[in-house]
Amino acid sequence: MFKTDYAPLARPAILPDSDNRSGLPAFASVGDVLRAYEGDDAIFVLYPKKIAAAARTFLNGFPGKVLYAVKANPHPAVIKTLWTTGVRNFDVASTREVELVQSIAPSAKLFFMHPVKSRAAIRHAYAAGVRDFSFDSAEELQKMLEETGYANDLCLHLRVALPKGNAAMPLSGKFGADREAAVDLLQAARPHSMQLGVTFHVGSQCLDVEDYDRALRYVRSVLGDADVAIDSVDCGGGFPVAYPDMKPAPMGDYFSAIRKALDANGFAGLQVLGEPGRALCAQGGSTLARVEARKGRDLYLNDGSYGSLFDAAQCAWKFPVKLYRSAPRPDAGKADFRFFGPTCDSLDVMEGPFDLPADVQEGDWIEVCHLGAYGQALASRFNGFYSETTVAVMA
Ligand SMILES: *Cc1c(COP(=O)(O)O)cnc(C)c1O
Repeated sequence: MFKTDYAPLARPAILPDSDNRSGLPAFASVGDVLRAYEGDDAIFVLYPKKIAAAARTFLNGFPGKVLYAVKANPHPAVIKTLWTTGVRNFDVASTREVELVQSIAPSAKLFFMHPVKSRAAIRHAYAAGVRDFSFDSAEELQKMLEETGYANDLCLHLRVALPKGNAAMPLSGKFGADREAAVDLLQAARPHSMQLGVTFHVGSQCLDVEDYDRALRYVRSVLGDADVAIDSVDCGGGFPVAYPDMKPAPMGDYFSAIRKALDANGFAGLQVLGEPGRALCAQGGSTLARVEARKGRDLYLNDGSYGSLFDAAQCAWKFPVKLYRSAPRPDAGKADFRFFGPTCDSLDVMEGPFDLPADVQEGDWIEVCHLGAYGQALASRFNGFYSETTVAVMA
């Protein structure tokens, strides 16, 4: 799935750094990366130490098992870094994600938490040892039973749809059983489940700690209606990152709100799961994009909305930016800029505004930060512009 072609790096300065277990060529700083780079494309940077630190925050603080939601960034270096830091569980959604994680961490425990799976994907996952699956309809339950030969060792997780919360990116509306269906599905699935659980997703980049409490209270009330005992509660993802203009509460507040709600709703003795994606890797990745042209306050870069800047374009998120000048120049104060990506599509624009030194010019590099989640993972090859170079910076 990933090319590991580092040819554009003239000096792949692999540091003797024992913290670099990512498998990537490692550099001490972004400056070192740029000095070694001879390619013509943008460069994806991963910061394994930041990813490991985010993982430790969850492993030490989240009141349950931590499942990494692989879709946030499936780069093998991210999976390796999380695995070596102690993340043992992974939330996968496709056959390729199953194969990817197993190729890197064969003893990882996988949870196939996509509520709509192909029959082939179910067969493949079950044969590969996966026992945990989610579902949100009677048809999907039936499909899983048929494709596993009515296995008696399934751990089934009912995805419930939540009333609307306060996430920057709501995820309700696509998946999840409503209350009435959830009651029927819990009763229908119980006899077929070695373990039965409920799972939900409050929406990505959830900015209200109380959403998790509301979700867990809702689950309790659905279980009351169903009169069915469960073995597992999965709090999903949604844990936020401090992007500019967004000030989420500290992660510890989320953990203690969840711990309190688990106790208050009688879930404390069950298996508890959480599926952070964004919060584990967003701050551990950035993109180095070169300025190909400047027209006034418009900068034309070699990465854009069809590369790793999708959310900067579609959601107008203002990611933090940092300038690396191609040659030393005196500081000229700051100015607001708009970015254009390299493709010929006029949707390839990131309005920002992005606050940079006013003297930006062609040949300079801009580091766009916090793109480790849903940034690098979304990059396409549209119009022939893409990055094949991912490096580690050990900062
Ligand atoms: C995307 C996804 C996640 C991760 O969500 P984040 O908001 O990145 O934490 C977790 N669980 C499921 C089922 C998902 O689809």
